[in-house]
Amino acid sequence: MERTLTAETTEKVGKEVKLAGWVDTKRDHGKMVFVDLRDRGGMVQVVGGSELSSLRPEDVVEIDGKVSERPEKLVNSKIPTGKVEVKASKVKVLAKAKDLPFPIDDEGNDIEESLRLKYRYLDLRRPRLQRNLKVRHQVIQKIRDFLSAQDFIEVETPTLSKATPEGARDFLVPSRLQPGEFYALPQSPQQYKQLLQVAGIERYFQIVRCFRDEDPRADRAYGEFTQLDLEMSFTTQEEILELTEELFIEVTEKVLKKKVFQKPFPRFTHEEAMKKFGADKFDLREKEDKDVLAFAWVVDFPLFEKTKDRKIAPSHHPFTAPKDKDIPLLDKDPMKAKSWQHDLVCNGLEVGGGSMRITDPDLQKKIFKILGHSQQEIEEKFRHLLEAFKYGVPPHGGIAPGIDRFLMAALGESSVRETVAFPASASGQVSVMDAPSKVAPELLRELGIEVAKKKKS
Ligand code: ASP
Repeated sequence: MERTLTAETTEKVGKEVKLAGWVDTKRDHGKMVFVDLRDRGGMVQVVGGSELSSLRPEDVVEIDGKVSERPEKLVNSKIPTGKVEVKASKVKVLAKAKDLPFPIDDEGNDIEESLRLKYRYLDLRRPRLQRNLKVRHQVIQKIRDFLSAQDFIEVETPTLSKATPEGARDFLVPSRLQPGEFYALPQSPQQYKQLLQVAGIERYFQIVRCFRDEDPRADRAYGEFTQLDLEMSFTTQEEILELTEELFIEVTEKVLKKKVFQKPFPRFTHEEAMKKFGADKFDLREKEDKDVLAFAWVVDFPLFEKTKDRKIAPSHHPFTAPKDKDIPLLDKDPMKAKSWQHDLVCNGLEVGGGSMRITDPDLQKKIFKILGHSQQEIEEKFRHLLEAFKYGVPPHGGIAPGIDRFLMAALGESSVRETVAFPASASGQVSVMDAPSKVAPELLRELGIEVAKKKKS
């Protein structure tokens, strides 16, 4: 007999079925034993006698039985299969389960996170996290469908790459073939997507992993995160904003079935936002309402900002174009120049940023110089891009909304880690696998690497 999913039992009253799944709960009344059987589609009540009594929660079982309607007063309106039950005739245990280290039938927010992450494969059985992963998939699927229908193509770019500045520390990977040299994991595919514009891929996108070695926060996972990276040629900031807006309205209304607070998304200049909210990310909702997503745009950012140690840094990244009228300011008073940066805000979180890009190699060099790069550094780090721009570069721009962070807002979660299957812990440990870990000395020798002994302090 073919397997029937628990959710399908409502259509099979009077029929024999074979179910398979996990024992969710068991209620043993002696002669009568009730088991809630859970599978990917939901849950159904199974009734039987002694054949069910040895089962324990989370055992994996296969149950043959007959679907019948429950008597009126025993209908459970809380679950979709609450009108039926399955009378067990045969029970086969496929795998026994030990006692779980924590309960999985609640939200799980009170359990220590490190324990949840150590047993993430059990934590993920929790209905909340099952829902989060499913919604994540549906959102990504919608993004792919929406953009494909608008002539975008998804192109993969390398993970073993060269440092590309997004303002964070790089992860380095030693090269075996060139001992002493290192790849950097991309902080974003920024330069590749710009090179793809030179290549004539006028509408590019990628659901892509980005790597940044920066301290974790609730809205920022350690190490890696997923972006919808997008770039267009022959475009304008207006077109990028409108396309992104249309996409996020569709995702919110059609996939998440939530309300968009204000359409079109309100726009604030950076100056207005700072004056009104004291920050460049803000929540427009009057009160917290998980069913409403309040999007807004922030534009007209300053091109540069000062770091803590008073150095000039890009407000976005060094490829962002200054406003044309502010180009003369670059020589006189660069801190006053405004840029074509745009940030997308949602329920108080910055969920994406992008810009129109510089395409003039001389202007790009000037920006690198203002940022303190020497001529030699510019040559070493960015020659490929400057060279590419000499072969016919279309005007281009784009954006990269963060999938994890958007889902955090969309699902009303308090941390991005709740939207990812196997996140690193706050201390950078990928707990299930116990990464990072020491490696065999031979491997290090092959890579020409010697690990310095920690100095005793
Ligand atoms: N590369 C940028 C980032 O990761 C996004 C962009 O400018 O398109 O923030």
